[in-house]
Amino acid sequence: MFNILRKVFGFREFRPNQESVVRAILDKRDVFAVMPTGGGKSLCYQLPAVLLPGTCMVISPLIALMKDQVDGARSNGISAAFLNSSQTSGEREEVMHHLLAGKLDLLYVAPERFILSDFRETLSRVRLSMAVIDEAHCISEWGHDFRPDYLSLSALVTLFPDTPVAAFTATATTRVQQDILDKLALRNPLIIRASFDRPNLTYGVLYKEHPDVQLLSLLKSNFGKAGIIYRTSRKSVNDTAAMLQKKGFRAVPYHAGLSDENRKNNQESFIRDEVDVIVATIAFGMGIDKSNIRFVIHADLPKSIENYYQETGRAGRDGEPAECTLLFAQGDIPKVRFFIDSIIDEEERERSRVALSKVIAFASTSVCRRRTLLDYFGEHYPHDNCNSCDICLGSREVVDCTLEAQMVLSAIVRTEERFGATHITDIVTGSRNQKILEFGHDRLRTYGVGKEHDKKYWRRLIDELLAQKVITKSDGLYPTLLLLPKAVRILRHDEHIEMVRVLEKKKGQLLPKASEPYDQQLFELLRSLRKQIADEQGIPPYVVFSDRTLHDMSTRFPRTAESMLTVSGVGEVKLERYGRQFLRLIDRYCSDHVDSKIIQ
Ligand code: ADP
Ligand code: ZN
Repeated sequence: MFNILRKVFGFREFRPNQESVVRAILDKRDVFAVMPTGGGKSLCYQLPAVLLPGTCMVISPLIALMKDQVDGARSNGISAAFLNSSQTSGEREEVMHHLLAGKLDLLYVAPERFILSDFRETLSRVRLSMAVIDEAHCISEWGHDFRPDYLSLSALVTLFPDTPVAAFTATATTRVQQDILDKLALRNPLIIRASFDRPNLTYGVLYKEHPDVQLLSLLKSNFGKAGIIYRTSRKSVNDTAAMLQKKGFRAVPYHAGLSDENRKNNQESFIRDEVDVIVATIAFGMGIDKSNIRFVIHADLPKSIENYYQETGRAGRDGEPAECTLLFAQGDIPKVRFFIDSIIDEEERERSRVALSKVIAFASTSVCRRRTLLDYFGEHYPHDNCNSCDICLGSREVVDCTLEAQMVLSAIVRTEERFGATHITDIVTGSRNQKILEFGHDRLRTYGVGKEHDKKYWRRLIDELLAQKVITKSDGLYPTLLLLPKAVRILRHDEHIEMVRVLEKKKGQLLPKASEPYDQQLFELLRSLRKQIADEQGIPPYVVFSDRTLHDMSTRFPRTAESMLTVSGVGEVKLERYGRQFLRLIDRYCSDHVDSKIIQ
């Protein structure tokens, strides 16, 4: 087992839970594993597939992903193939031929194929080492991604009584989990529920003021890196992509309104590192295996914490640091509420409301983001400080703003709760606009008491008061601000109120967890070589080597085949295929920089 881990996959150690899953499968035991994205699920079955005699059949719902998985396995020298509708009948026959000849370690098939009696008949003549169900949540009607074809998979255990079945998913609430177990009728399975923590991801929320400016600043600090920007509407996707292109970023749009071809091309160029940024609606992401996504930005509110977790989860699959930023303003909420109110199904509407309120709570509290996310999945985060979210990194501080809140509240009281946020701001900042003068509000005692802060500050404070349920807004086109019971307590000095403030020096930017220091110049050269090789072979760059592997090379400067083999992600086959070219590049680089580098 360890031998294969090292020689085939090029890894020195297992990630959490991989070893127990592999051992169970080798012992012919069924497995059900919930592991987060990037947790390394593929290895859990690919390793036994290499070790066990026979073919491992993997049922996977996404045709696009099958090719990637097969490319990935083959790049490590594993004999793998897929069967799906994207192939010509000639191609399929060839795969069948290899399958029947017992030449495949891994076979990926779509669930619709598994239903076909022809195919089942073929399977009965094949030695199956195990059956794997990828994206197993698709079998549950409770999940967000139910596929009716998946229901046929409950026949697996009866059809193959002696073959272990292993089901994997990255998304399962306990209800979905139980449903999967019931439907598949696994036999005394090893059940793994890995931690949902993604330690290499840094989370942060920025107060959304000028999204374009903020996006540009975030992109500048991530220049040349791959990232996703999520937006809610097709129009905002198009606008943002156009804006970024105009500013010289390699960005493309992705949403369901684009032609199939257009969408496919944009996705493909993103996967192949030809563009850096994809601006997308949530239509994008399923079936994206790209491991070197370095940032995910939500420029609008996600629908639920689950969505947020999944969408941010696409960053940093390779285990290297990646940054997740949410741009949030209270001003975005009414738009989403409006949309939710228009949902016809009552239950669904209520669910969406609750989901939204959890997102708002996530974005507006001053509790560690990681803790809040994990809490949502019923997991307790055991540390006080995660060191990789905006709250824990202290790029924000909590300040008492009771006095300022009283100014706002008093302005609301004195104008009898008849005005909106703009007018209240005008009162406290002492504006001399016509409306103020008309109403005689320049004679109020609170007029101009908050001059030392600008209008932006007061708008934020009002947002904060709304978020903390000190005040609320009336319905209608021109909402006015209304006091809630908490406001009265604050006015009476019975209660304090605090606000999170973004510290100026770090504004607009998270402090991402630093990766191990590495030679950036060499890394860029290795990256170009990787891209060149990937293009020649028609595979995505991350299939050649992951970012982690290239980082490792640019930290340790391997110059011999043996030292190359100790680099994470370099197995024997990859060494043989690509080793020479990478070694040559590193060697030349080291000779050119012989004075300044520590060379292995
Ligand atoms: P998942 O399917 O769970 O999202 P993958 O199987 O795609 O995750 O693995 C994510 C990344 O982690 C891949 O780049 C893979 O090569 C890498 N990986 C998997 N297992 C290990 C390991 N034991 N050590 C280092 N990297 C690993
Ligand atoms: Zn934290």
